[in-house]
Amino acid sequence: MDDFAYQHTAVQENGFQGNSSSRIGAGDSRKTPWNLVLVNKCNPIPDDYDFDLTRLSNGQYVDTRICPELQAVFDAARKDGVYPVVAAGYRTPEKQQSLMDEKIAELEAEGRSAADAKKEAETWVAIPGTSEHQLGLAVDINAGSVRSAGSEVYEWLAKNAWKYGFILRYPPDKTDITGIRYEPWHYRYVGKEAAEQICRQGLCLEEYLSGNL
Ligand SMILES: [Zn+2]
Repeated sequence: MDDFAYQHTAVQENGFQGNSSSRIGAGDSRKTPWNLVLVNKCNPIPDDYDFDLTRLSNGQYVDTRICPELQAVFDAARKDGVYPVVAAGYRTPEKQQSLMDEKIAELEAEGRSAADAKKEAETWVAIPGTSEHQLGLAVDINAGSVRSAGSEVYEWLAKNAWKYGFILRYPPDKTDITGIRYEPWHYRYVGKEAAEQICRQGLCLEEYLSGNL
């Protein structure tokens, strides 16, 4: 059974889609291609960022443009006997806010002050408006079932995801630049060309973009 088969759901029904005629690249003045849009603490999602979402068979949504490559990642992993799942794809701003609120509450429950809990939470959870999950270009990939362990999936992805245009977005040795802790499950689509360079040169996306745009 292919539990990753995706369908091009009419995302308009879900209220996610903007006007597809005003998509990035179509009369947009910004030069950054959609797959290289930088979103982090200092670079919130542009107000006019536009995209279509596709619903995966497990109910998660991703940007329609990354579906073929995402499918290719899963097909290749399975061929190697590794069974991942998309644990999280697109998130609404409200969902991102609730994740942040939960993390802050958790830290406060551990005895942190409100200010301290907020500061700490922001190293674990992206501030709403600055999460790549709100772009639909990021996927959290975990082990699907008893067939694979999480570490096995992360190891496979670290070695192979770049071939399909996905990068490990928050590597352990780049936390001072990304501002986010190491997340072995979080992959961001940047396209094959960028992914190959980023992987070969051992860069994070911020470093790659500062040298290439
Ligand atoms: Zn993530």
